[in-house]
Amino acid sequence: MLKKCPICELNYIHGNETMCRVCAAERSRRHAPKAEPEVIMCSECGENPALPGHDLCEECLKEQKRQANLEVLADKVRADEAEDPLEEDISEDGDDE
Ligand SMILES: [Zn+2]
Ligand SMILES: [Zn+2]
Repeated sequence: MLKKCPICELNYIHGNETMCRVCAAERSRRHAPKAEPEVIMCSECGENPALPGHDLCEECLKEQKRQANLEVLADKVRADEAEDPLEEDISEDGDDE
């Protein structure tokens, strides 16, 4: 026994079917590609997906860490240099009251 597809009301379907093949195909086409978990692209390179909880990809995170380490090192060097009184003759002059 045939009846009309309730969705498109164009094609006939068998009594035990809920929709015609056209509608079934349409539906599976719409639902098949499962909504991918939203991938945020790396804000740095924009080529790789960012790691969860970050806005940078693994590569850029590594790079960022490397840069951060370099900066820490640079800061240390700078601090060391600042502590060294290279110019010792600052207070010698100007004391001529
Ligand atoms: Zn249909
Ligand atoms: Zn990146």
